[in-house]
Amino acid sequence: MSQSEGRVARVTFEDARERRVHSGGVELCVVELGDPGRPTVVLVHGYPDSKEVWSEVAAGLAGRFHVVLYDVRGHGRSTAPRPLRGGFALEKLTDDFLAVADAVSPDRPVHLVGHDWGSVQGWEFVTVPRTEGRIASFTSMSGPSLDHFGHWIRDRVRRPTPRRAAQLLGQGARSWYVYALHTPVLPELAWRGPLGRYWPRYLERAEKTPGGAYPTASLPRDAAHGAWLYRDNVRARLRGPRADAYAHVPVQLVTPLGDPFLSARLYDGLDRWAPRLTRRTLPAGHWIPRTRPDLLTAWITEFVTSVEDGRPGVPARGRYADRFGGQLVLVTGAGSGIGRATALAFAGAGARVVAVDRDAGAAVRTAELSRRAGAPEAWAEPADVSDQQAMEKLAEKVATAYGVVDVLVNNAGIGLSGSFLDTTAEDWRKVLDVNLWGVIHGCRLFGRQMAERGQGGHIVNIASAAAYQPSRALPAYSASKAAVLMLSECLRAELADRGIGVTAVCPGFVNTTITSTARFAGAGADEERRLRQRAARLYGLRNYPPEKVADVILRAVARNEAVVPVTPEARGTRLLARLSPRVSRALARVRPPL
Ligand code: NAD
Repeated sequence: MSQSEGRVARVTFEDARERRVHSGGVELCVVELGDPGRPTVVLVHGYPDSKEVWSEVAAGLAGRFHVVLYDVRGHGRSTAPRPLRGGFALEKLTDDFLAVADAVSPDRPVHLVGHDWGSVQGWEFVTVPRTEGRIASFTSMSGPSLDHFGHWIRDRVRRPTPRRAAQLLGQGARSWYVYALHTPVLPELAWRGPLGRYWPRYLERAEKTPGGAYPTASLPRDAAHGAWLYRDNVRARLRGPRADAYAHVPVQLVTPLGDPFLSARLYDGLDRWAPRLTRRTLPAGHWIPRTRPDLLTAWITEFVTSVEDGRPGVPARGRYADRFGGQLVLVTGAGSGIGRATALAFAGAGARVVAVDRDAGAAVRTAELSRRAGAPEAWAEPADVSDQQAMEKLAEKVATAYGVVDVLVNNAGIGLSGSFLDTTAEDWRKVLDVNLWGVIHGCRLFGRQMAERGQGGHIVNIASAAAYQPSRALPAYSASKAAVLMLSECLRAELADRGIGVTAVCPGFVNTTITSTARFAGAGADEERRLRQRAARLYGLRNYPPEKVADVILRAVARNEAVVPVTPEARGTRLLARLSPRVSRALARVRPPL
């Protein structure tokens, strides 16, 4: 389903309709958004949250789905079981879920989404026989099945290797709070006292949650009651995990790689338990419903839609499909060479692609090829990156028509060769306008949108090995690329706090058409043609394909690398510049073989 198609009027959380559902002696507060005729998506919150943790995601989904949220028993505006002990057993939570599902969608199975303890519960719901036929799909985030976790621990204790022991210890250390919550009374006292007061600040500081209506005033009570989720279930299940905890629905697993409480290793063998599994990863902390609502909305929408369409989950595509599937990627200079290869590599990973180039026809072709390569959507946008107004218009159009860009690749660039004394002021202006100002405009406009959205992102700037290897033949080009490299480093430092990564990619000689359009300062038309042909021949002999650069770009974004030399000569000259600047300078004096 297209994002533009889906730019429906946004339903706000305040539009929600409320009802009360009775289940085993408690009264659950249930709210609904969106058209009840559409497929139902039930969002279940975690600990120590209430349904409000989902407010942004719910509003994002409500244009397309019937969205249902409820406060888990003892949380938010739902009543608590009496006595508390034993009142939070997974069997009772399953009763609650079924009561809600029957009330809001009696005739059709619902799509379940769980975060943290909402996901722990969700695993129970999708692996017990009595819910079969009532759930259509499950999206799990930051909350493993206690049964799977129990088996994960057993496997590592029974067949320890140094790596497995380290995984066990690592997760053991991350689970400190689980032990703490098993102590009697103290957690309740802490939550109703200083911890309850401090918690909102902790979330803002450590997790960078935006604040606002979440967490709600019920937090101390929710957290005190929720301690029983742990006490009633964790020890018993980890000691005796069920052997038949197989998911009977397609599962989408969303793993935030920076979760301080859960190691990504926990899900290593998950395909065994969930045969129809789609994996997603993102660089973020634990509270992704607050910090990454747009991406979650896109992933849930894509997954639910695919299941509704009768396809079992989202087909795995490309090596980085888990990371880039459904993300919005904009590439400048996408009409040729490295830019086109990069657009296609992201498309192959299932990203939505905006191909920007001053050559409109070439951009259209890249958009077409992107769709064929696997992009669910791709658009061509003609623009000259050196033109400030055109770039401002482009940024505005992209934001309104397609959304805020998740990954920006400032790739457009032109070649300029020739000695400094031969380089005219006009030559300088042209190369700086495209190679440096083009990158500045991209970073300024799309970087600002990313920062204002507050949900992270990544910027890739294509510099060059010429950024650090001086050369008598490339003073202007090298200066433009050195500026791009330093701009990237500075921006990386500035945007790190906002969860936005910045990478400078520095290729060496790559076989593209850059040689046939490069300007050779000081050369007449005939001489320039000869030099271009000769350069093209040499680059052809070197024959390093742009597809390899594209692969490195995707990897660099996935790993959030800072500076990435590509090709052996680019890596070699980088090392040289560090180890022996003298040799580097001597190399700069060698006349190029042109
Ligand atoms: P290419 O000539 O094959 O592709 C560049 C694309 O950018 C073309 O489609 C062109 O139309 C577009 N473009 C140029 N100026 C533009 C502008 N002002 N606005 C919008 N689009 C514009 O070149 P390539 O080799 O793929 O180069 C891509 C980037 O990689 C450039 O920044 C280049 O400096 C850098 N680079 C290339 C090499 C190499 O050996 N090819 C080495 C290091 C760095």
